[in-house]
Amino acid sequence: MLNRRHLLCCGAAAGLFTALAEPARAFPATACPSGLPASLQPLVQQAFEGLDPHQLWDVHTHLLGTGDAGSGCTVNAQLDQWWHPVEMLRKRFILKAACVPPDAPSVDRAYVQRLRALADEFPVGARWMLFAFDHACDARGQPVPAHTTFHVPDAYAAAVAGRHADRFAWVASIHPYRPDALARLDAALAQGAVALKWLPSSMAIDLREPRLHAFYDRLAAARLPVIVHCGEERAVPGAGREDLGNPLMVRAALERGVRVVVAHCASLGTALDLDARRPREVQAFSLFARLMDEGWGEQLMGDISVVLQTNRRPEVARTLLMRDDWHPRLLHGSDYPLPGLAATLRLPALVRAGLLHAADAAPLATLREHNPLLFDLVLKRRVAWRGAVLSASAFATRRHFERPAVS
Ligand SMILES: [Zn+2]
Repeated sequence: MLNRRHLLCCGAAAGLFTALAEPARAFPATACPSGLPASLQPLVQQAFEGLDPHQLWDVHTHLLGTGDAGSGCTVNAQLDQWWHPVEMLRKRFILKAACVPPDAPSVDRAYVQRLRALADEFPVGARWMLFAFDHACDARGQPVPAHTTFHVPDAYAAAVAGRHADRFAWVASIHPYRPDALARLDAALAQGAVALKWLPSSMAIDLREPRLHAFYDRLAAARLPVIVHCGEERAVPGAGREDLGNPLMVRAALERGVRVVVAHCASLGTALDLDARRPREVQAFSLFARLMDEGWGEQLMGDISVVLQTNRRPEVARTLLMRDDWHPRLLHGSDYPLPGLAATLRLPALVRAGLLHAADAAPLATLREHNPLLFDLVLKRRVAWRGAVLSASAFATRRHFERPAVS
């Protein structure tokens, strides 16, 4: 059974996908305010003080679509059935978050247009890393449609980023069991991908498999970071291999010199402590913390998208704020479109946890209605614990991903 907690994790993006696959008129009209009220301008300006917008890359942004304008994106209708009826509720929220008009002639296009409009309210220079998402594959590297929650082709992510190069970059997704995985990786590099994205539990990838070594070696040689979702992920059920989301498994990639970004700092759920003589379930975040203290340096990083969601324990945010020695390795990301979902992040809960000043809650709520991406950034700049705030370095992410110009 999916419960409320599961509804609110990163993979809710999959719910958007399934929502978009249905007739748009099935959803209530959404009001999508645009243009920032003058009263909010000082709050936003203050958030940018001390930041260089040209270094501000959002390292976790979902690109979604239905294929209705040739994107090649697909949605698994059967998995949608499996989620019923809880999904029905979530769809309404998530569709609203991306502000896709109910009568949009093309969901593919409306999604990109909305994201672009939100991005354009940021200073020149800020960019978003758009994720492709590969199929789940079997042991022979053949796609398994029944296990694939949704699919966003590399070519589509590359094309969207190419059309909006001033605002978007793209992140490839290649299942490493595919027989042509290395050729796909080379193609992604040639097309300027700035990272690779894996969701091991959903895509069925065992990071410890020796057959990944050649793929790891190519990633390491190219210095292409792999963004790995670790920790609990039940909203993108896919292959349903929760055990493969164990943060400790990224050591297999690190040991071969691969640069790794642990998505959401593994901030949700539990995982087996495989280092213990008698392995038991512990907070996945505690295993991430162990890795961060192992001396991998900038080879190991964590993205801070959705770590403030109400389904995360306040200890996660408190630790991330206090550990300023980690800050150069913590990377700003929004997990768009999730910041637009008011239900996933309740501001009063942050106030009660002592992480947010009470006076900030109302203006932030208004800002979220106008621009969820600005909201996400401003919130991360406002949260504090005992005087500790996120360092500006967490927002200067470009240096980790920028590729040398392709000649
Ligand atoms: Zn995500």
